[in-house]
Amino acid sequence: MNKTVLITGASRGIGYSTAQLFALNGWNTAVNYLHTPEPAMALAKQYGNVLPVQADVSKRDEVEKMTEQVMQTFGKIDLLVNNAGIAQEKLFTDITDDDWNQMFDVNVKSVFYCCQAVLPGMIARKSGKIVNISSVWGEKGASCEVHYSASKAAVIGLTKALAKEEGLSGITVNCVAPGVIDTDMNGHLDEETLSALQEETPLGRLGTPQDIAQMIYFLASDAADFITGQVIGVNGGFGE
Ligand code: NAP
Repeated sequence: MNKTVLITGASRGIGYSTAQLFALNGWNTAVNYLHTPEPAMALAKQYGNVLPVQADVSKRDEVEKMTEQVMQTFGKIDLLVNNAGIAQEKLFTDITDDDWNQMFDVNVKSVFYCCQAVLPGMIARKSGKIVNISSVWGEKGASCEVHYSASKAAVIGLTKALAKEEGLSGITVNCVAPGVIDTDMNGHLDEETLSALQEETPLGRLGTPQDIAQMIYFLASDAADFITGQVIGVNGGFGE
């Protein structure tokens, strides 16, 4: 029986590349999106094993419906990739309650809700893997992105604690912490800023969504069965 992955925020960027890689390799692939259905629909046309599923993962009821839909279609979830995320640049003194709450709802509560939705099945089967997408900024902190950095640090804390709790159930929980990746999330940055970030990256280039997808794919493999509670930087040396 094929394995099943549920990837949140998979309509663009890192999530989309990850969905492509898993679908290409024969996984049943549930592709979550919020506003942008087209890429998920196109993947479903290309690969018979792809299920596009719309949900706002910051809302518990929508996460529960999404998970039920995936279970009905594929029967189980072997791997959850908590990738959906938002970013915002603002002076700390300008961050409003709404900014803070939205950041934590999308970047942290979604991880809480999605993990709670998939874990009962994994615990019952005594197997499963969870990969959470944090950020280099969750470890190092970024000026003018305090709420983003704090939300990504929370994802690291959640990962390490959950890994301890679920270890004896045969479930691994890890984080990938990307450096600067060439996606829409950085689309607002001007050329000068992007080339400065590239220069600050020892490997001399920005990361690609595929760089992150490959690490997630490795963590999903049997070769990673003894890895849990880790934060794996995929950053070309940026921030080290
Ligand atoms: P992106 O290109 O901006 O794509 C974000 C994705 O998240 C989209 O598919 C979007 O769906 C989805 N999304 C946003 N809010 C959602 C919600 N409430 N419910 C469901 N889906 C939602 O971002 P990215 O650069 O690929 O980033 C992916 C992850 O990597 C994020 O967690 C981000 O923080 C992290 N990361 C990125 C970088 C980087 O440099 N790009 C660096 C470190 C960490 P729709 O299109 O349907 O709205």
